Amino acid sequence: MHELAITQAAVEEITRRLGETPIRKVTLEIGALSGVVVDSVRFCFEVIVDGTPLRDAVLEVIEPPGRARCRDCAREFTVEDPRIPLCPRCGGANLRVLGGQELRIKSVEVRGECAQPAGARTTPESE
Ligand SMILES: [Zn+2]
Repeated sequence: MHELAITQAAVEEITRRLGETPIRKVTLEIGALSGVVVDSVRFCFEVIVDGTPLRDAVLEVIEPPGRARCRDCAREFTVEDPRIPLCPRCGGANLRVLGGQELRIKSVEVRGECAQPAGARTTPESE
């Protein structure tokens, strides 16, 4: 399962960088043309984060639309059906993809404003 591997890689990358720091929110960018099913990623995320510092994290997914430019008539358009992208003006399939192929971790929010190093003063900061 494609989405499982991708989600696992993202979670591993975050825990590798941030260790045991509890994560509050993870934002992923998954373009409409990335071939990744966002609902599957959401489902996999819920399963994978169990028992990790990401277990209470909210998953936000940004889904940039597919954008392409026709090489034949230079028309730029939003790709409605990523499986068969065709130029809406001339019907051409000679396209250059401009956006929508994103697949990356956009941001990670840790719990609290910043991670407290071990042994740091625990004087509460005003919220
Ligand atoms: Zn065209």
